[in-house]
Amino acid sequence: MPEIRGYATHAAGAELLAYRYEVGELGADEVQVRISHCGICRSDLHLIDNDWQVSKFPFVPGHEIVGTVEAVGKAVQKLQPGERVGVGWQSGSCGNCTWCRSGKENLCPDSQPTCVHRNGGFADAVRVPARFIIPIPEALESENAAPLLCAGITVYTPLRTYGVSPASRVAIVGVGGLGHLALQFARVFGAEVTAFSTSPAKEEEARAMGAHHFCNSRESKGMKALGGSLDLIISTVNADQDWSAFLTTLRPEGVLCLVGAPSRPLQIPGSLLIQAARTVSGSNTGSPLALAEMLDVAARHKVKAQTERFPMGRVNEAVAKVRKGAVRYRAVLAN
Ligand code: NAP
Ligand code: ZN
Repeated sequence: MPEIRGYATHAAGAELLAYRYEVGELGADEVQVRISHCGICRSDLHLIDNDWQVSKFPFVPGHEIVGTVEAVGKAVQKLQPGERVGVGWQSGSCGNCTWCRSGKENLCPDSQPTCVHRNGGFADAVRVPARFIIPIPEALESENAAPLLCAGITVYTPLRTYGVSPASRVAIVGVGGLGHLALQFARVFGAEVTAFSTSPAKEEEARAMGAHHFCNSRESKGMKALGGSLDLIISTVNADQDWSAFLTTLRPEGVLCLVGAPSRPLQIPGSLLIQAARTVSGSNTGSPLALAEMLDVAARHKVKAQTERFPMGRVNEAVAKVRKGAVRYRAVLAN
């Protein structure tokens, strides 16, 4: 019986241990990918800690995967062994609902994440249905491309959804794994870009990545100066914030879009939404079609993740550094 070697946690919050699992015959529509790189998303930490109460142990994290096709099932036509491909957050959907049929598989109510109740990418290989395998453009380096598969698409989607253009003023909350890619993509879309950050030490790099303005979100003076000026705020933080202060920076019809989920319900005065017809929304990764488009845009406009590489065997050290918020800006495991 063939086996895959990976790293798994056996209890919420526990260290990852070497873990081998047997895999049977490859499914007709499945592809086996030999993993070269896998990014560490903060969602992997939420799942390690079972914050969302959906983790099943032993749990193999990892959903920012790049590798090469090793084997394809009998029904797979378009992918060839040796081809360089990526796998992101999603590895399954019903295929029949309105959302799947309209190319928005990421909104399918039966969406299956790559590493929830499946073994993810902290491993030497992964098996995924061919529909969720995305070819990687040649111009992208594997290590820099891996974080695009989740972090990249998650911030790219709201820029597309809300029609960001050179006329737009866009702000990104949090300069981390998602945020540093959001700054780059927002700049590529032509927007005037503001970085909201709690880390003044990140200012220089945030500006180099695309921010025209840098605002310390812990200082009310800077927040007030932005009052009524922004069209779109994409918040990548999972911490509770003064949401009223952010809403006040939005112009009429402005949108606060959450991609990071704060642990507590949002406290928002209705009047801040009503008077200026502001919207609070959310966004979740992106479809396979959107992933291919995003990778193409990244390749042509030189958007790339700034990474810190760790050998797969040093996964616990890498996870600990992500936990501390000390990685600039995405940790990537390499086999
Ligand atoms: P990350 O690399 O840790 O970055 C998060 C950033 O948030 C930090 O770099 C920091 O930026 C800021 N931050 C951290 N603690 C904060 C606090 N207490 N107050 C204010 N700001 C704080 O994490 P990530 O990988 O980008 O993921 C961010 C969130 O997005 C996670 O919750 C993850 O689960 C979620 N996510 C959602 C989707 C989706 O589809 N919606 C997809 C992927 C990830 P500064 O130092 O600049 O303040
Ligand atoms: Zn992720």
